[in-house]
Amino acid sequence: MKEFDLIKRAKLNALNGNILDRESIIALLQIDPESKECDFLGKAAREVASIICKDRAYLWAAIGIDFKPCPMNCDFCSLGEKWGIVTEENELGDNEVIERVRQFVSQGVRWIVLRTTQFYSLDKLIELAGKIKKEVCGEYELGLNAGEFDESIAKRMAKEGLEFVYHTLRLREGINTRFDPAKRIVTLEAISKSTLDLVYLIEPLGIEHTNEEIADALLSALKYGAVVTGCMERVPVAGTPLGELPDISERRLAQVIAVSRLAAGFHAPDICVHRASKLAFEWGANVTVVETGAIPRDACCTLKEEWKGFTSETAKRWFEAKGYKVFQRRE
Ligand code: SF4
Repeated sequence: MKEFDLIKRAKLNALNGNILDRESIIALLQIDPESKECDFLGKAAREVASIICKDRAYLWAAIGIDFKPCPMNCDFCSLGEKWGIVTEENELGDNEVIERVRQFVSQGVRWIVLRTTQFYSLDKLIELAGKIKKEVCGEYELGLNAGEFDESIAKRMAKEGLEFVYHTLRLREGINTRFDPAKRIVTLEAISKSTLDLVYLIEPLGIEHTNEEIADALLSALKYGAVVTGCMERVPVAGTPLGELPDISERRLAQVIAVSRLAAGFHAPDICVHRASKLAFEWGANVTVVETGAIPRDACCTLKEEWKGFTSETAKRWFEAKGYKVFQRRE
């Protein structure tokens, strides 16, 4: 009974325009993902999604530009230099990237992100973004998922036509990564002070993370003004230090999505799940990711095809089956 009341309160809180408090977020995360209480949580989150995002779903496409060893050696990433997984380097040329962007735009993708390893030249990326914006017309928004930068670089990004940046303080930053969390925060602050939108998921979520860590990641996304939040699971990549730890269950991922939806309310109206899951759509996610190119979650580089064969068309079908309609343009 306690859980049902808590869920009803969280739902009301979201619809009243408030962010949920840390204690309640943790209590929602404590619900057994296999229970009927969790089904009720998912149902409540879906109802809130209907009101907040009006059953509009959106697609996110990531283009991994460089398949190269990265000296930051994050414990979950296939591109970490120390893990020796990348044996043959690869990098997409400008024309290949532009062609991929054109394809995603024609498929109705709203957010297209150019993703690189940590030290890829930001100058090169900003220049490429300007070129894409000139050559590919459409309703899409273009963003980056790259290294650290300051306010002056954020301004240059916006000037070249970039609309958003994907950046996060990851779960166990500084423990499972070699980053100083303070440096990631400097970049988050630079984005917050710019006209760029911030997209910030709870990631990479695995069975090792506590409810408290998840709640703090979610509240951090909201603190820095993320317009899209949600959750990305950790995919165990054999050969990385976390490669032997299993991934989370589909119900646990969907639960974290439901909690994100109720906690963020109108503050982050779009909730993204990666990997895509029909249950997560049913429990409040209205955004998902199609990937191509270098994938930090896999030992391969899918330069021509979508990762795991998950295409924009599949995503659209799944959303429609769960009562959403996919749009390219924000309302
Ligand atoms: S997650 Fe990013 S920073 Fe970390 S090793 Fe992979 S590419 Fe480098």
